[in-house]
Amino acid sequence: MKKIKLTLNDFFNLPDAEIFNPDKFKDILSVSIDSRKIGKNCLFIAIKGERFDGHDFIKEVVKKKVSAVMINKNQLKRFSDLEIPIISVKDTTKSLGDVASVWRDKLNAKVIGITGSAGKTTTKEIIAAILSVRYRVHKTTGNNNNHIGVPLTLLNAKAKHQVLVVEQGTNHFGEIKYTALISRPDLALITNIGYSHIEFLKDRNGVLKEKSELLKIAVKNGGVAFINNDDDLLKKFGRKLKSKITFGFNDFSDYKAKLLDVDKSGRTTILISYGKKKFQARLPISGEQNAKNFLAAFAIAKELGLTDKQVLKGLKRIKSVSKRLEIKKFKDTVIINDSYNANPDSMKASLSLLSKIKPSYKKIAVLGDMFELGKHSKKLHSEIGWFINELKLNEVYTVGKFSENIFKSLNGRVPVKKHFSEKKNLIDSLRKSDLKKSVVLIKGSRGMKMEEIYSALEEKL
Ligand code: ATP
Ligand code: MG
Repeated sequence: MKKIKLTLNDFFNLPDAEIFNPDKFKDILSVSIDSRKIGKNCLFIAIKGERFDGHDFIKEVVKKKVSAVMINKNQLKRFSDLEIPIISVKDTTKSLGDVASVWRDKLNAKVIGITGSAGKTTTKEIIAAILSVRYRVHKTTGNNNNHIGVPLTLLNAKAKHQVLVVEQGTNHFGEIKYTALISRPDLALITNIGYSHIEFLKDRNGVLKEKSELLKIAVKNGGVAFINNDDDLLKKFGRKLKSKITFGFNDFSDYKAKLLDVDKSGRTTILISYGKKKFQARLPISGEQNAKNFLAAFAIAKELGLTDKQVLKGLKRIKSVSKRLEIKKFKDTVIINDSYNANPDSMKASLSLLSKIKPSYKKIAVLGDMFELGKHSKKLHSEIGWFINELKLNEVYTVGKFSENIFKSLNGRVPVKKHFSEKKNLIDSLRKSDLKKSVVLIKGSRGMKMEEIYSALEEKL
């Protein structure tokens, strides 16, 4: 199979680009922004980040025999003596996207774009695990889902790949449109429309407006949108789209699912009906939210032609993603390590899971602040408290500035509860407490670093 190449012509056609030493240009076979990952026939793009400026590494990459460098125009003077091709542009970050867009055109793969308020990374991993049974799959590494991560994901894909699973995140208006115009997905999925990043996106309608760009761009380019019919805003939005596949638990959909069972460890058995067919499986991941993520992945796998047998084989390849609903079993205690992140929807979903898992065990929730909720913060934290009141949990501990509002709205139905302003005091208290025959949920926004609580408990148990 022929390797993907970027030619001199590709760079001549790049917006705002000027090329020096073009006579020395050789076709580019890979692109990197990391001076440690430079190979033969590689283009190094110097990006100015928060901590490092790629321009400071130009000398190093030239020594490593990079084929060409891309730099910001205003830095040109510094590098006038370089003898390799220099592509000078107005803004290297923007041009990284332009180069990725050219690369995307040359790929042989079907591109799956995933956005949504919660569950993007998890769904990406499920989709990639299942599709890998039949196809050569490339996917976003980790959580690299922004205006730099998305172009890099595309640029790291090779000619041999048949499917690309691209996570696309946003924290401000315009970011999804920007990355979607680069990835141009053939299959586009929004997991859900919730309250994440609402500080910047105003309200759920703002979140929809931002994220729906992915679906619009996919459909406009001949792709298909996957619509979560259980989400009121997505369902309504989906009505306007001409090319779509729907899925859901609650509503009539192309792929309609029912939860048959949630076992003691939170694992679910799902039954999916589509057309005249049925598919049933016990999922290797916990919680209703993961069952929802699986349903979306199933719809995509079916549209890409996988058989039931292949999906079942793929299920065995699914691993829970670190710190996302990870069920950790100790001698007498179960911890749900969901410390990766939190927003009101995922907080409620994880609390529901806590209330259902290991029925005979004591239920303990350890909750940190949810960030980026702007003026809705107080209300949305209070709502979590009201939600907990209905769940029959035994103990609730909150930590941080905002989560005091969770604590304040708890009522007498929660027998033991305490708020801490400092995490270390909470950890000291948990170290002393009796966690025998208990399930402990640990959850909070990324900035709360709730995994420190998990580490402390792991030591104790
Ligand atoms: P980020 O915006 O940080 O990239 P993400 O959308 O990639 O997040 P994940 O990392 O997959 O989301 O999951 C984050 C948390 O969201 C999980 O710990 C879990 O509690 C919750 N979650 C996962 N799937 C869903 C879902 N379908 N609905 C609600 N909450 C979910
Ligand atoms: Mg993610």
